[in-house]
Amino acid sequence: MQKITIAIDGYSSCGKSTLAKALAFRLGYKYIDTGAMYRAVTLYALRHNLIDDAGIINHEELLKALPEIEIHFKLNPETHISDVILNEEDVEREIRTMKVSGLVSKVSAIKEVREKMVVLQRNMGKRKGVIMDGRDIGTHVFPKAELKLFMTADPEVRAKRRQDEYSSKGQYFSLEEVKHSLMQRDHEDINRKESPLIKAEDAIVLDNSELSREEQLDYVLKLISDLQFISREEQSHH
Ligand code: C5P
Repeated sequence: MQKITIAIDGYSSCGKSTLAKALAFRLGYKYIDTGAMYRAVTLYALRHNLIDDAGIINHEELLKALPEIEIHFKLNPETHISDVILNEEDVEREIRTMKVSGLVSKVSAIKEVREKMVVLQRNMGKRKGVIMDGRDIGTHVFPKAELKLFMTADPEVRAKRRQDEYSSKGQYFSLEEVKHSLMQRDHEDINRKESPLIKAEDAIVLDNSELSREEQLDYVLKLISDLQFISREEQSHH
């Protein structure tokens, strides 16, 4: 079957990566978590004291440091999923803290940071057979992706899922705290100037508040097979 590009965008903690990983596994596609890349830049900025205690970013120094920030993905043989590597160090765990989550939207709003990440993302996806999740994949990174999904879910459901994810890693926060952090991040992502979070016109909205993982996966696999059927039909008419 012809390999396609699948773009998954949407709000924070809607299960984009859960769906993307399941699809990648079923289709034998590559999965790229673009949020992990912005998180890795944020981690770098924190470690180099380029963000102060009040969350103010030292833009000038961060721009100077950008050429020093090398990001790529490497397959983890245990999880069979690619971990994000920041300057040769696997930072997959360190980027998932509440601290990084609270600052990443500020870092990802910086034009030069986005430009650098988008070049890397387009390069990783150029051979198709890729599933990329993020905020601007269908609108900006791969505007010609054959399948675009825009995911959403009830904020309460999202907060609960993220709270469970934190607690499974030994990080405990109240539901209110997690919800506030999610809402704040969405607000910043929607209202930024550079590639804000917005549904691409041709994206299919997927609200998974009441869908199980299996139901969601089946729904999207059906979309993909319909799409391939349509493209075969079109080809046979030419
Ligand atoms: O998907 P995840 O929650 O890990 O993304 C973290 C943050 O990275 C988002 O809240 C957003 O600020 C930024 N991001 C982005 N563009 C993407 C992916 C993530 O701006 N394509």
